[in-house]
Amino acid sequence: MELMPELTLARPDTVEEAVRLRGEDGARYLAGGTDMVVNIRRGIERPSALVDLTGIAELTAISAGPEGVDIGAAVPLAEVAAHEIVKKDYRAVAEAASEVAGPTHRNYGTVGGNLCLDTRCLYYNQSEWWRKSNAYCLKHRGEICHVAPGGKRCFAAFSGDLAPAALVHGAEVTVAGAAGRRRVALDALYRNDGMDHLALADGELVVALHLPAASAGLASGYRKARIRGSIDFPLAGVAASLRMEGGTVAALEIALTAVNPYPHRLRGCDKFLGLALDGEALDGLRDVVRSQAKPMHTTTVQPWYRRRVVGALARRLVAELAR
Ligand code: SF4
Repeated sequence: MELMPELTLARPDTVEEAVRLRGEDGARYLAGGTDMVVNIRRGIERPSALVDLTGIAELTAISAGPEGVDIGAAVPLAEVAAHEIVKKDYRAVAEAASEVAGPTHRNYGTVGGNLCLDTRCLYYNQSEWWRKSNAYCLKHRGEICHVAPGGKRCFAAFSGDLAPAALVHGAEVTVAGAAGRRRVALDALYRNDGMDHLALADGELVVALHLPAASAGLASGYRKARIRGSIDFPLAGVAASLRMEGGTVAALEIALTAVNPYPHRLRGCDKFLGLALDGEALDGLRDVVRSQAKPMHTTTVQPWYRRRVVGALARRLVAELAR
């Protein structure tokens, strides 16, 4: 790790002021800093100024109303995990927030930071000297991808826990930028590109996560596999929401994390509608999950294992929800 470089720190009171400050040369946003500060000390991020978002009241509140629950982007993950309405009505979101890293990270790490988490790779999340001695890589300062040499794509994995859980509840986000504000489906925040996985214009900021009333109370959950259960990013993660009527599936959503460069909302869930979730249906579901998980060698754990485990996690989670 390098020492922190010289930089200036601004602490605006409003979103609009934050966006203006971020527009200045070399500025980056800072919230909990659990990822950003590490990346700065590894020389991956080299900002000349940081815009601290944690003093903006609008970003630090959770509010519940007839439309659902709105969670400010700078709300700490621990607060989301402990929120009574989130725990009762959006269980997958509370579970995912409670599973991020360790307790200290959850007290500092924020909703916006986890949703906008940079993609991760064994060859990228390393110190400056390590990356330099390996001629860097395509994602940052280098010419080749060590995971898929010869290719021109980056397969670094999105490893946020919160996004898949919010996706299965049909969440939306509000984004603010120099051109004003817009509200989009959470799905639309991501694209399949490990080098540039956020569909945000330069300087745009996620302001809030919206959990709609329509999905409140759905049976939902989040499960992940990781090396150290007390702290690690997911090697594979899955969220699901389910509604059963008369013993058959009336609604089913599944989303994956850590096995693609973006949080992947599973295609083909509708083919399970009207089915009883017996062993055969659950095996079919597991196989659909495995077919859409595309882990690459971006962790110390082999891709085949991550693909198998994400299918097993999904099968087990959906069976639990059905019960
Ligand atoms: Fe670099 Fe390739 Fe890893 Fe992307 S997948 S971070 S380009 S080594």
